[in-house]
Amino acid sequence: MSEQGDYKKVWQNCLKFIADNITSDSYNTWFGPTKAVALRDDTLYLEVPSPAYPEFLDEHFADLLRSALRKEIGPTAKLEYMAIVDNSASTPDQRGAIVLPSQSASPSTQTPTEREIKNPFIIPGIRTPRVDPQLNPEYSFGNFVEGPCNRLLRAAGEALAKERGKCTYSPLFIFGGSGLGKTHLAQAIGLEAKRSFPNKTVLYVNAARFQTQFVDARLNNDFNDFLHFYQTIDVLILDDVQEFSGKEKTQEAYFHIFNHLQQEGRQLVLTSDQAPSNLSGIQERLLSRFKWGLQGELHTPDLATRISILRHKTRKDGIVVPEEVLVHLAENITNNIRELEGALVSLIAQSTLGNREINMELALEMVETMVKSPSKEITLELISSTVCDYFRLPEGALRDNSRKHEIAQARQIAFYIARELTEHSLANIGSVIGLRDHSTVNHSCNVVKDRMLTDRGYKKDVASIMKILQTE
Ligand code: ADP
Ligand code: MG
Repeated sequence: MSEQGDYKKVWQNCLKFIADNITSDSYNTWFGPTKAVALRDDTLYLEVPSPAYPEFLDEHFADLLRSALRKEIGPTAKLEYMAIVDNSASTPDQRGAIVLPSQSASPSTQTPTEREIKNPFIIPGIRTPRVDPQLNPEYSFGNFVEGPCNRLLRAAGEALAKERGKCTYSPLFIFGGSGLGKTHLAQAIGLEAKRSFPNKTVLYVNAARFQTQFVDARLNNDFNDFLHFYQTIDVLILDDVQEFSGKEKTQEAYFHIFNHLQQEGRQLVLTSDQAPSNLSGIQERLLSRFKWGLQGELHTPDLATRISILRHKTRKDGIVVPEEVLVHLAENITNNIRELEGALVSLIAQSTLGNREINMELALEMVETMVKSPSKEITLELISSTVCDYFRLPEGALRDNSRKHEIAQARQIAFYIARELTEHSLANIGSVIGLRDHSTVNHSCNVVKDRMLTDRGYKKDVASIMKILQTE
C-alpha cells in the first residue's frame, strides 16, 4: 500500500486514468480544480473548491473514482472530500478554511438580507412575475374526468385547494403508475388554489428541476437564496419525488423546506410512482413526514372512465368521433391514460393525413397494429436473442452451462442491459436469460460497468446492442 507521502503521486496517477475515460471538458471542470491533501489508512483526502463538488462527483463519477483509487491504493481505498468554504458571512480569518462537506452543506437558517432573494425560475433577460406558479391551464379539474380510480384523491385535492385552512391534509401524497394522472391532478390543485386564493404563492416544481436548481445554487454560492425562495411558497407542489432517490443533499434541502412550510401551516403536495412505504433511496425522516398527511393512489381507470376520458377529450377539441370508435379504443387500450390519449391522437392524425373518415374500419386497423406491436416492449427474451445475434452465438446460448469466454461475456452484457432497460427483478433476469441466480446478475452488472469505464470498444458494443433494442 502507498505511504503517506505518496498522496500527490497517487492522485496524479488517478487523474491520468480519469482523463482517459471522460471528455476533456468534464475533466477540466470537475477534476482540474481538485487537489490531494493527505493519504491516511488508505483514505485519500481530496480538496475541492466548493461543497457542491462531492455530490456531483459521487453522482456522476463514483464508479470511475472507485476504479482509479483501487488501482492505485488497493481494494480498501476510500475517498474523503474537503470543501473550501468561501463564506462571505464569516470573519476574514475563517474564509477559505477547509471543512468537511457534512458541516459545510448544512443549510443555514439565517434570515435573508435586505437584497432581493434570487429566484431560480427566472431566466435572465426575461421578465416574469416574482413567482410564476409553473401551471398549465389545460391540467384543470374541469379536464380531469372523475371515476372510481381517482374519486378519493380528486375530492381531497379539490377540497384542499378550495378550503385551505379548514382541512388538514398536509402533505397530500399522490402516488400511482406512469400515465395515470399524477401530474394532471397535482397541477389541477395548484390551479384551483391560485383561483381561490389569488394572493397566495403557489408553485409547481418537478423533482428533477428542483435538484438541478439546488446543484446550481450550491455551485454559485446561492444556496441561502434557494432555501429562502422556497420558504416563501404557500402551496408547494413537488412532482415525482422518487427522482430524489439516492440524492442525499437534495433531500436534506427539501427536508428543511418541508419542515419550515409545515410549521408555518402552508400546504405541501407531492407525487410519486410509489407509496411512501415502497420508496427506496429516500431518507427515513422524509418518508415519515410523507406519511403524516393523506396518502392516496391513482388506479388504472375502468372501462367506463376510459370512455368518459376519450369523450371529454374529443368534445374539448371539437372533433366528432363515433361512439363505437371511442368504445373500441377504450376496450383495447387499457394500461394507462397517456397511451389511451396517444391512440386517439394517432387516430385523428391518420384520418387527417390519409384523408380518411374516422370510422370503425380505421379504428380496427389502428388498434390491431398497436396491439400487435405493444409499444416496443423490451422483453427479456428479446434481449437474449438480440445479444446472441450481435455476437453471432446460437439462439439460447446464454442459457447453456458453458463457461466459454464469449458466452459468459455475452451473458453478462445481457444481464446488464436487462437491468438498464427493464423493470424485472434480478432473480427474474437471472432465471429467464441465463439460468443464474440474482447475485450472479448483480455481480455481472458491476463487471460490465467497470469494464465499460476502461474499454471503449466494449462500451461501444454494449451501446450498439441497447440502441438496436430501443429502435427495433
Ligand atoms: P402521470 O403524471 O401519472 O405520469 P399525467 O398526469 O401526465 O400522468 O397524465 C397523462 C395524460 O393523461 C395527461 O395528458 C393527462 O391530461 C391525462 N389524464 C390523466 N388522468 C386524467 C383524467 N382523470 N381525466 C382526463 N385526462 C387525464
Ligand atoms: Mg407525471
